[in-house]
Amino acid sequence: MSKKVPLLDVGAQNGPISNALRSAFERVLTSSHFILGQEVERFERSMSDYIDAPHTLGVSSGTDAILLALMTLGIGPGDEVLCPTFTFFATAGCVSRLGATPVFVDICPGCFNIDIEDAKAKITSRTKAIIPVHLFGQCADMDGIMALAKAHNLYVIEDAAQAIGARYKGQSAGTIGDFGTFSFFPSKNLGALGDAGMLVIKDPELAEKARVMHVHGSKPKYIHHYVGGNFRLDALQAAFLDVKLKHLDGYETKRSANAAYYRQAFEGLSGVASPQSDNCQQAAQIEAAIGKESKMILPSIHPSNHMIWNQFTLRIVPDGARDALKAYLNEHNIGCEIYYPKCLHEQTCFQGASQGGDTIKQATKMASQCLSIPIYAELEQSQLDWVADRVAKFLDNL
Ligand SMILES: *Cc1c(COP(=O)(O)O)cnc(C)c1O
Repeated sequence: MSKKVPLLDVGAQNGPISNALRSAFERVLTSSHFILGQEVERFERSMSDYIDAPHTLGVSSGTDAILLALMTLGIGPGDEVLCPTFTFFATAGCVSRLGATPVFVDICPGCFNIDIEDAKAKITSRTKAIIPVHLFGQCADMDGIMALAKAHNLYVIEDAAQAIGARYKGQSAGTIGDFGTFSFFPSKNLGALGDAGMLVIKDPELAEKARVMHVHGSKPKYIHHYVGGNFRLDALQAAFLDVKLKHLDGYETKRSANAAYYRQAFEGLSGVASPQSDNCQQAAQIEAAIGKESKMILPSIHPSNHMIWNQFTLRIVPDGARDALKAYLNEHNIGCEIYYPKCLHEQTCFQGASQGGDTIKQATKMASQCLSIPIYAELEQSQLDWVADRVAKFLDNL
């Protein structure tokens, strides 16, 4: 029953809506209005409605959204910014690019998000902000983060690149902190046909500053208040994204169904653990009690979270087994990927230019155990069956 199962199939998603995408393209082509203007404004309004946030700003990428948030706060040399060490590079790269110091924080072994106790221990008089990342589509412990930020006067920038539509206690990811950043890179749940992103800003004055900063700090044109940059979202990408946003809930329902299918397929297998914790503290206790007999650990979703399944991430516990499973799945035409194979505090580019690595334990373990398998909305049942079959077969022989 061998089947080809890519990790992601962008064509399978865009194919069925290609007429709507083509007419969006025709509209922009005919208008000859390629920069800013009504396409971008329309998409900003659509996103405002979708996540229930008054101030949304279309930008050039998820990375630029983070950079722009930091620039709007004036973060630079001498400042420290807390961020998880287990995330995509951009979260910390933006901090470094501004001459500030990323301070790396360990993660919760349940939800894979920033560990509040470790973050707290790393706060100094130089700490200006904290960047929780909502990894794989599940929110970090935002109550804990907001309380910590309030007590220590920190700004909160939610890196929601992987979490559009995710919710924490009913509130949309990206709308809880001072800033929220989204990416529309094609592999995210809402993917553009190129690079694109969005910045969400809570405070109206900071929103206005960010808007000015994203066009070189100028208002009106050629009158510069700040040194900003070109962080504009293309009108064309905005037009495509406005088409795709209407389908996002439908995609998410399918991702969720795929996750439920994997869970029921794996849960009964011998050596598979499915630890469900109520919060990060409990997850740490459960983690400490996980025995040697566990070969594979399924994703854990905290009850406060509505998860949008940007990734379905397995943990393969025995030494070396994760890499063996990856090779085995690839041999059987199944795409899979390690997010992320190396923590940021261990990256060469951050040696000497960062802090916080010494207390990190869980994140390095996750980097050696995690493997994400296909979860995209357009997977066919026969493809899901093939993935489940091969993972089960591998475990059998492990
Ligand atoms: C994708 C991603 C980004 C960067 O987004 P781009 O649009 O590719 O610049 C930042 N942070 C996280 C956690 C991401 O997954």
